[in-house]
Amino acid sequence: MIPQAVTEWLREETGIQLRPSTARSLSGGCINEARLVEAEDGSLVFLKFNQRHQLPLFEAEKLSLDLLRSTGVIRVPAPYCHAVIGDQAAFAMEGIRLTNRSDSASQETMGSALANLHQSLSPSGEFGADFDNHIGATPQPNPGTESWADFFTENRLEYQFQLAESRCHKFRNARALLDAVHSHLSSLDIAPSLLHGDLWGGNVSFDEGGAPVLFDPATYFGDREADLAFTHLFGGFGPGFYEAYRSKFPEVEPVRETIYNLYHLLNHFNLFGGSYASQAESSIQQILATL
Ligand code: ADP
Repeated sequence: MIPQAVTEWLREETGIQLRPSTARSLSGGCINEARLVEAEDGSLVFLKFNQRHQLPLFEAEKLSLDLLRSTGVIRVPAPYCHAVIGDQAAFAMEGIRLTNRSDSASQETMGSALANLHQSLSPSGEFGADFDNHIGATPQPNPGTESWADFFTENRLEYQFQLAESRCHKFRNARALLDAVHSHLSSLDIAPSLLHGDLWGGNVSFDEGGAPVLFDPATYFGDREADLAFTHLFGGFGPGFYEAYRSKFPEVEPVRETIYNLYHLLNHFNLFGGSYASQAESSIQQILATL
């Protein structure tokens, strides 16, 4: 059900009149309650709901969507409005009829679109963003930083190690790992590309016309290899995707795939615990043995 207060809010903010009886729940998201609803004009509206104190997550998602949309290289839902309505935080955006496509041509379009996104560089030349956001439910700090080595070690790995320590888990060799990663990244010439930031298979799809769609981002300017690395961690991308991407940019180097995915393993440990700790430990040892 869509509460009447939400229907009224959306009409006042956007002029869109929902048909609440058409609402259906969507699964696949990890954080929010999601509904896809038809409007009187035949368009679709995608609504997310969460507890009221989570409104800043929606504000950050709106800014991330705006930034991705500003490139014009790939379809990204248009954010409409977000607010606390009654006892919930609500976020309304353009709804898209998503379709799964694993054929090679579709995968190629996606790979090519991602490479185009990565060609969009930070206007200031800095890494980070003008806003902080979240990776899953975890805060993700994005202070504007000149050095990628500083940005990634401090705001990605060290930040997650500190979160783990606040939950009484200390990773072995964390300091040595941070120093080794910093020194490795400092030796490279890395461009500040616009990243989706949370690019697993569950956050990409296709519209009815077959155009690729990106959603649920954790956007910032960073090393494009960080996005690519994450596509390998949980899968969901076909050979055509990588072939098309490689025609514009090289694949991620194996050691940096491990470095960049360590961030996500640490985050998964901080969110879900369990075997992610041992996976992160073995990545740490592998990186130290390689660098
Ligand atoms: P969460 O923030 O909880 O992770 P998502 O943004 O991933 O939620 O959305 C949950 C599911 O809803 C996605 O897996 C996708 O299938 C679908 N979805 C996401 N955005 C849209 C949209 N704009 N229009 C239609 N469906 C969407």
